[in-house]
Amino acid sequence: MILSVASGKGGTGKTLVATNLSLALSSKTRVQLLDCDVEEPNDNLFLRLPISYSQFVYIPIPSIDEAKCTYCGKCSEVCAYNAIAVLPQKVLVFPELCHGCGACSYLCPEEAIVEEGKPVGVVEKGKRDNLELVQGLLNVGETMAPPVIRAVKKYVDVGREVIIDVSPGTSCPVVEAIEGSDFCLLVTEPTPFGLNDLALAVEVVRKMDIPCGVVINRAGMEEGETERYCREQGLPILLRIPLDREIAALYSRGIPLVEGMLQWREVFYELFEKISAMVDGGRNSGDGIKEEHQE
Ligand code: SF4
Ligand code: SF4
Repeated sequence: MILSVASGKGGTGKTLVATNLSLALSSKTRVQLLDCDVEEPNDNLFLRLPISYSQFVYIPIPSIDEAKCTYCGKCSEVCAYNAIAVLPQKVLVFPELCHGCGACSYLCPEEAIVEEGKPVGVVEKGKRDNLELVQGLLNVGETMAPPVIRAVKKYVDVGREVIIDVSPGTSCPVVEAIEGSDFCLLVTEPTPFGLNDLALAVEVVRKMDIPCGVVINRAGMEEGETERYCREQGLPILLRIPLDREIAALYSRGIPLVEGMLQWREVFYELFEKISAMVDGGRNSGDGIKEEHQE
């Protein structure tokens, strides 16, 4: 199963859920955690796996052969990102805007464009026992996260249970990371901002036709707006992590919950089993996951 862990808003506890789920599960089976939060990959702050492999990620940037160029302007017309401008006797390329889509070189009638690799980030791998980590790191100042996320996802090992830590928000990097998942776990917090961004994330995940469920972090004792929203939307609340001083203290010291409070190991494992049953149920019915799975 490929399970992505996302959140509409940063700071809700997505890393806490992704790392603890991976650790709890790896005590029973082979697990791969893909840290696709490439602007701020911090899963390994908690896992502390030794990194044994590293590879640069490049995107192809156009380079103009002025001897062949007729300054026809075709490349500038086809570039959707305004990364190339044609002046009467000069072609200007803006590498920081280029998405490396290759349209300009493909459509240049004079074959005057060659592509040069520009490094935008790194993919790293580490492993301990049953747990493998693949993490992407976007270069500082770079904005092109999707190519790094795609590079991380190339390492998906279908022989393992795969957990993807997605960047916060609802933009392109989130869609890139979630695509292809069997299930998406949305981590939120019971605040008005958390609820607003949860609703946006639910919209995106439903448009992608990926079944989803919710984890409420820093949950209170009573039902609040977030619970009410989930109930109205037919969204299953799969786990509530309470607002608790000991949990916060462990997190701030980089200690995984499943190691600092052992009872959480079983809780996270049960969370995975619940999702697994829902995904299998959806597959068997051939109809996706039904809303009646709500707790
Ligand atoms: S499409 Fe090719 S020939 Fe035309 S301006 Fe661009 S680089 Fe030059
Ligand atoms: S590779 Fe794509 S994004 Fe980059 S300059 Fe060419 S058309 Fe524009």
